[in-house]
Amino acid sequence: MAGHAKLVATYPTAFWRENGLNGDAISHRGPLAEIHDASPVDAKVGALFGFAQVGAAHQSGFRDAAVAQLARLFGQEAATPDDVFIKDWSLDPATATEADLTPPSDHPNYSAVPPTRRVMFARTETSSDNGGFLEGALAGAEAANAALTLGGY
Ligand SMILES: Cc1cc2nc3c(=O)[nH]c(=O)nc-3n(C[C@H](O)[C@H](O)[C@H](O)COP(=O)(O)OP(=O)(O)OC[C@H]3O[C@@H](n4cnc5c(N)ncnc54)[C@H](O)[C@@H]3O)c2cc1C
Repeated sequence: MAGHAKLVATYPTAFWRENGLNGDAISHRGPLAEIHDASPVDAKVGALFGFAQVGAAHQSGFRDAAVAQLARLFGQEAATPDDVFIKDWSLDPATATEADLTPPSDHPNYSAVPPTRRVMFARTETSSDNGGFLEGALAGAEAANAALTLGGY
């Protein structure tokens, strides 16, 4: 993930929901490759986020091309966001190294690490389900908590 960049566009409302759209999109054309509804739970504002195709955020005109893509997908209202935030982790030295510029094509297959009395791993790489994602981190934490409780550690 460290070689990636993300864009978030905010709007006064999550207007796409009123049109029966859930805000999800996958695109091989880009410049955003994977888009999701990122509105807060209270939906007081609307937000769409997308992962940039690798390297796309470095191209001049990325912001405008991404907003135009959102408008193509979700309607003209998406063409005028209140704000657009771009975070390019590939340029963040605390996150990315040179090796991250050529990321693996897929998430590796992770598997659970059996707990011992001395060491217990509780993180996304210990989850065979959704390893590498936030969801996997939650599953890893729950598994470790269950092992602590059941194992009497
Ligand atoms: C750029 C980027 C974008 C991402 N985007 C998404 C996304 O959109 N959706 C998604 O589902 N996932 C995303 N991920 C993946 C997701 O962030 C991780 O899967 C998740 O954060 C892993 O959680 P974790 O608890 O396993 O580990 P971490 O979140 O890495 O937590 C480990 C913690 O341990 C601390 N630590 C390390 N060593 C020590 C030590 N010796 N002593 C004390 N503390 C220590 C670290 O500082 C860190 O806070 C992204 C990852 C990156 C890098």
